[in-house]
Amino acid sequence: MMIGLKQFENKEIFSYFKIKNTKQRNVVLDILKKAEYPLTSKEIFFRAKNMDDSINFSTIYRILNVFESKGIVVKLNIMNSDEAVFELKTVGHKHYLICLKCKKMIPIEGCPLGDYEKFIENTTDFDIMGHHLEIFGYCSECKGDKKGDGVNEGKN
Ligand SMILES: [Zn+2]
Ligand SMILES: [Zn+2]
Repeated sequence: MMIGLKQFENKEIFSYFKIKNTKQRNVVLDILKKAEYPLTSKEIFFRAKNMDDSINFSTIYRILNVFESKGIVVKLNIMNSDEAVFELKTVGHKHYLICLKCKKMIPIEGCPLGDYEKFIENTTDFDIMGHHLEIFGYCSECKGDKKGDGVNEGKN
């Protein structure tokens, strides 16, 4: 079960995290709430531009930094990509399928490592605090023309 900030009103989020409720912060928060997958700052900017023409990239960047420092969003750095992506914070964690071609991230249900972690702890006496799992491949839109864009080449 994923509990996140999505269920809360923007104004509740702003007052909980003690930051000012501004029009542009609302725009960014709305985008993050509706996002189907984590977005880069550029993607957030383009979506914001559609909602508020006066918004500029440095504003978006500043808002994301404030949100990150307050713990409203999580910034993820994905292997094979120089661009970080942002998503609203959730309790617990999520794993993603990452498309090597279009870099889209598709969230998957559940975590395959839960039982395995217990097994490792029992057999190694290591206290596991977390893990990182990225599953690479090609999404349904990209798998047709994946030739020449293999894992070893990294980004194109
Ligand atoms: Zn793709
Ligand atoms: Zn996991």
